[in-house]
Amino acid sequence: MRLFQIPARRDNYIYLALGPENEAFVVDPADAAPVIVFLRERPEIQLKAIINTHHHHDHVGGNQTLKAKFDLNIYGPAHDADRIPGLSHPVQIGDEVTVCGITMKVHDVKAHTRGHICFQTLSPFAQVYRHGHQGRETQVENLGGRPALFVGDSLFLGGCGRLFEGTPQQLHEVMSLYASLSGDHLVVCAHEYTESNLRFAAHVLPASEKIAQRLEGLPQEMGVAQSSVPDLLEIEFQTNPFLLALDGSHQNAMSQKFETDGVVALMGALRQAKDNF
Ligand SMILES: [Zn+2]
Repeated sequence: MRLFQIPARRDNYIYLALGPENEAFVVDPADAAPVIVFLRERPEIQLKAIINTHHHHDHVGGNQTLKAKFDLNIYGPAHDADRIPGLSHPVQIGDEVTVCGITMKVHDVKAHTRGHICFQTLSPFAQVYRHGHQGRETQVENLGGRPALFVGDSLFLGGCGRLFEGTPQQLHEVMSLYASLSGDHLVVCAHEYTESNLRFAAHVLPASEKIAQRLEGLPQEMGVAQSSVPDLLEIEFQTNPFLLALDGSHQNAMSQKFETDGVVALMGALRQAKDNF
């Protein structure tokens, strides 16, 4: 199993997951064209499916064109079926689905949108590649051998998506879910927002050396790929303020800063502060 990154639009990432039989699915294709170009250079790969985490146009924009060209199955949230173009395989929370030989568990991560889901692979990707908008496709050795979380916009490196249709309570539930998973997972998110997220993280937790170090090391981390994504959930546990809000001492520090009482109120205050940062 191999995981490729395909840059799209201004700061979107599409992913292509290659299964054991050279069959592949793409995750949240913002547009069809970058996927078609990628496949033209790799004629041995057969594109068989799309998986969608949520309905936003920069995640489903390529669905219909790719479906018409490749006759694909499209997997997405059953409870948001009306908003997923071409949906053929609706999935339910808690389902285990196998696509191109890759088995994934479906999690509820509504908050960014009311239908948002996350796909967790139950087996590891042997090889993982980063490819940013200004960079070159690069294999990242230390990311190999790990399972993936296709999180869409529910979690970013150093942050999370806006609350367009959800509440701080739901954001708390999403972060609690991610906090319950093994740090060994790859966070495979759909945007390159890491730098601005870490600047905000350093603003709300100025005493955190881990956040300062991650921000300082970011240019080197992005390397020739010019991409910081994916990276390990374990690093998010240490540097993502929305996950650190679950942790006693960091929670106290941020609650004082925002003058909030309780973790749900803190989630709301953090999200609002980031929206205006
Ligand atoms: Zn979105």
